[in-house]
Amino acid sequence: MKKILKVTKKCILCEQKKLITFLKLGKIPKRNGEKKLTPKKNLPNLNMKVCPSCWHVQAGSVPLPNFYIKDYTYHTRFSDTAKEHFKQRSLQIYKKFNLKKNDLIIDIGGNDGTFLNNFNKFKIKLKTLCVDPTFKTSNFAKKLGIKVFRDFFGLNTSREIKKKYGSPKIILCTNTFGAINDMHDFVSGLQNLMDDNTIFIYENPYLIDTLSGLQFDTMYYEHISYFSLNPMQKFFKKFNMNIIDYSKSKIHGGSMMVFVQKNSRKMIRKNLLRVSSAIKKEKKLGYNKIKIYLKFSDKVIQLKDEIRKIISNLKKNKKKIACYGASDRGLTLINYFKLDKKYFEYVVDRSPFKQGLYFSGTGLKIYDPKILLKNNTKIEYIFLTAWNFKSEIINYFKKNKKNFKFIIPLPVPRIF
Ligand SMILES: [Zn+2]
Repeated sequence: MKKILKVTKKCILCEQKKLITFLKLGKIPKRNGEKKLTPKKNLPNLNMKVCPSCWHVQAGSVPLPNFYIKDYTYHTRFSDTAKEHFKQRSLQIYKKFNLKKNDLIIDIGGNDGTFLNNFNKFKIKLKTLCVDPTFKTSNFAKKLGIKVFRDFFGLNTSREIKKKYGSPKIILCTNTFGAINDMHDFVSGLQNLMDDNTIFIYENPYLIDTLSGLQFDTMYYEHISYFSLNPMQKFFKKFNMNIIDYSKSKIHGGSMMVFVQKNSRKMIRKNLLRVSSAIKKEKKLGYNKIKIYLKFSDKVIQLKDEIRKIISNLKKNKKKIACYGASDRGLTLINYFKLDKKYFEYVVDRSPFKQGLYFSGTGLKIYDPKILLKNNTKIEYIFLTAWNFKSEIINYFKKNKKNFKFIIPLPVPRIF
């Protein structure tokens, strides 16, 4: 089998070699769906690390590029919550940066075009380009009428894009930014592609929300970086770029959208103070000291014990439990908790690309959520591995007049 992971040997931002491991998640599968069952002992270990120089949080092993080309199963459009979020975000960007006719909007890691498609719906005509190396997902963007540049983004590809399309007004990079291994090459590519007016916008789970909400389940191989403002501001400054503003949201359990521009006379300065006070706040909370990371790790271990107790008790009472959500987050969650087919009947997920496969590491088969609507279902409890989409999921069953009890694992385990 081709190697698809490599071990992180130095900080991906400042190149410090002595990274500190603060959380060991144990054996976590590389992908969320598999055709055949892989024995658990053959799975790699996932460790989380923090850099003691710049305090950037990063994964201890990261995917190589060929990880994304084949069998990539995450399609944005299968989540109503994500779809609505991107609609709102596009409106916000449109107003905030006063977009004009023929402005070019590029989405790096644009997936199936869900985000960009919103920009195509505005009255004024904008140009859109989806940069993405995957096949199935970016093909869907093409079907929406969005131009696709099928490749990874970096300095070399940025030259090709610039030659063909010119400098964009907006470069979007949602979630993908956290999946970049060679940050120097990626940001050099941005630097090359951007002019003084271009705004680079990335959105990812915000480290402070991740840690305070015990969301260790955002940690999986595809996620290399866990962003706070302090390390990133230092990093961008090396490229003569600046974080000019940020905007928080609830998506993915608490995310931050960050706006970056080149340092020039055209740089928008009105919110710089806001950015520096957010950085001060991060330091005040202790994100530039090791203690907060170790405390997080202790709490995650405690949570594991609590969840295992709840599920074991239900099993003792012969309750039938299904899981909802065969996502990467769910994969870390369920494998770290060491829960599998001994405890659950099966797992359901809306994505047709996952249905029929096994949820890796668990021996559980993935089905269409409709299976739970059948009258003869013996399931009483649903374990929400996709707990961050709980209202969307609970409403789905309410609408279909199905009464289940929901086990919500994070941030505090509870039965709903
Ligand atoms: Zn560092």
